[in-house]
Amino acid sequence: MGNDDPFENMLAQMDRAETYADVDHGVFERLKYPERTLKVTLPVELESGNIEVFEGYRCQFDSARGPFKGGVRYHPSVTQREVEALAGWMTWKCALVDLPYGGAKGGVICEPKDLTENDLERLTRRYTEGIRRLIGPETDVPAPDMNTNPQTMAWMMDTYSVYEGYTVPKVVTGKPLEIGGTPGRVAATGRGVSIVTERLFEYLENDLDDATVAVQGFGNVGSHAARLLDDAGARVVATSDVTGAAYDPDGLDVPTLGAHVDAGGLIEEYTAGDLKGTDRTRWDEPEMISNAELLELDVDVLIPAAVEGVITAENADRVRANAIVEAANGPTTVAADEVLSERDVQIVPDILANAGGVIVSYLEWVQNSQEFSWPLETVNAELERRIGSAFDETIERYDQGDVPDLRTAAYTIALERIARAHEYRGLFP
Ligand code: GLU
Repeated sequence: MGNDDPFENMLAQMDRAETYADVDHGVFERLKYPERTLKVTLPVELESGNIEVFEGYRCQFDSARGPFKGGVRYHPSVTQREVEALAGWMTWKCALVDLPYGGAKGGVICEPKDLTENDLERLTRRYTEGIRRLIGPETDVPAPDMNTNPQTMAWMMDTYSVYEGYTVPKVVTGKPLEIGGTPGRVAATGRGVSIVTERLFEYLENDLDDATVAVQGFGNVGSHAARLLDDAGARVVATSDVTGAAYDPDGLDVPTLGAHVDAGGLIEEYTAGDLKGTDRTRWDEPEMISNAELLELDVDVLIPAAVEGVITAENADRVRANAIVEAANGPTTVAADEVLSERDVQIVPDILANAGGVIVSYLEWVQNSQEFSWPLETVNAELERRIGSAFDETIERYDQGDVPDLRTAAYTIALERIARAHEYRGLFP
């Protein structure tokens, strides 16, 4: 779906911010290069008996503010450049929400749909062995991303721990509760998206009640965002998966759709009335539209929650939403940003909008350090406080009136924080 090089897009976003950020040019240039990227070859004996050779990466982008932090993605379109761009975005994200972390990302080129549970376990363990020289509880802490989940983190934690000779829960976040996970982590990114959407409406002095929302992607992020916005009174009129989008201008029945998808159902089955995970025979009977059409719906808020590079110079003119909340990483290209910024479409950038996941990852890591666990209410309150204050700071920077948009405001704050850390620490050796 994406058509621009995500790394080039990230560099262009940085360049847009350089004019406004109080950052020494030398330090700024240094931030355009990742510290290191490890490429690993992963031969795995599949359940079928065949040996398949996979390729994986771990990019550690910048560690001036603390240990590297970032998810691991399993997808056929993973490339080294994409992993490096995502690691850069993690660095800016952690700085913007003021976590004591740098940024990293991992990826394995694979099609998880073609792999059995056993295959995925072997691939994950092999990948963990491959990158275990880089990761560690105080050096680099992986987490879930696209197509990885608490089970993947459990295998990573176990593999790392077996080699260390003792259990190291802190080496990954997003673990199952039983082995040191935190309540609230699975829904955290979607919850953060819903919190910033509510804050945006308050800022724009608009009413979220009955506001129309289109959510591209109903995976871990999109589904929780859609459910929480539905609970908050918004009208979710469209959502999608790889098979296409379900659209109902009167609002989708999000709980029923959620139960269907949780039970393994696809959007095309839902629109056709082949409902899973529910006894219902009557449902909202939505129309089936394409993912491209979803992006162009006339809605109050568009939430891209799938892959990068979906809003481009090609379709930006046709995007009719009044605001965009970027639940995915890198969904809008810089060329599209310029078109949308001229049209005064407010975009809450990814590094703010989807930071809920890494914020709760941090809370998990802190609980692991304390060997203590917090109740869900404490975790959710701390998430809301942290993402809310990053939102307020970004708005405050934007309201100073010189930066063109919220993304540039967010980048300015993040880059200045990282640059200060580099300046204090200096260059060594
Ligand atoms: N993969 C998520 C992200 O892109 C979460 C990363 C983390 O929790 O470390 O922000």
